[in-house]
Amino acid sequence: MSIVRQPWLKRQEIPDPQVRDAADQFESARKLLFGQPPGSGLLYPLVNTAAMAIELYLKCLSAEKEGCTEAEGEWSHLSASAAVRSHEPTTLLGKIGHDVRRELDRAFLAESSAFRDLSLRDALRQCEGAFEESRYPFDPNHDVSKYPIELLMACSRFLHQFVANLPTRETVQWRRPSSMYKQTRLPCPSCGAGTLVEAESPDLGYVPVKCNACVFTGRRVNSVVIPDREYGESWQGVECL
Ligand SMILES: [Zn+2]
Repeated sequence: MSIVRQPWLKRQEIPDPQVRDAADQFESARKLLFGQPPGSGLLYPLVNTAAMAIELYLKCLSAEKEGCTEAEGEWSHLSASAAVRSHEPTTLLGKIGHDVRRELDRAFLAESSAFRDLSLRDALRQCEGAFEESRYPFDPNHDVSKYPIELLMACSRFLHQFVANLPTRETVQWRRPSSMYKQTRLPCPSCGAGTLVEAESPDLGYVPVKCNACVFTGRRVNSVVIPDREYGESWQGVECL
């Protein structure tokens, strides 16, 4: 079975159902903990589940699909992947697409009068670090009690509601076949004798090129060719004299 790489550049289902399911589980746990009587000694798990729910709800609004197919075109695997590996809510907020982001901001402002009309970004900034603090509460530099518990709860509740009411939107950005690109043949900057040909269709901003006469490989950005060496990648062979 040969695995073919995914035929899309970027594919999203927003909210992503796999990430959202995980977020909902933490939100359910948060609600259970929040419902316990005062003095139950569950502060750290409460802060932790709220922070996890917030993180995962934000991630389900920016996650991308990863997948591969067998050569015959049968789907064998499709999973979600976070757009960014971060725990910081404001970083995650920045990865959400403009449309959804606008709706988020509007909906939060409509509900945040209890918090002196905080923007969602400012609210999340106040919750920043809660995840880590709740895991290392014994660290002398940490102090979970400095976090506005009500605001943490409100952010988690708000994101749950927002995601539950958001109609699913799916977008796919396909890879373009290399035939759609004008083949530019440039003189090799290394040997000067050969010409550079494109190695494969471009993905992001550059076209991989290799010399047809020597071992030179590089990346073409418009008409500028940057040798792979300068990217610190493995440089195979020696330069052609
Ligand atoms: Zn060359």
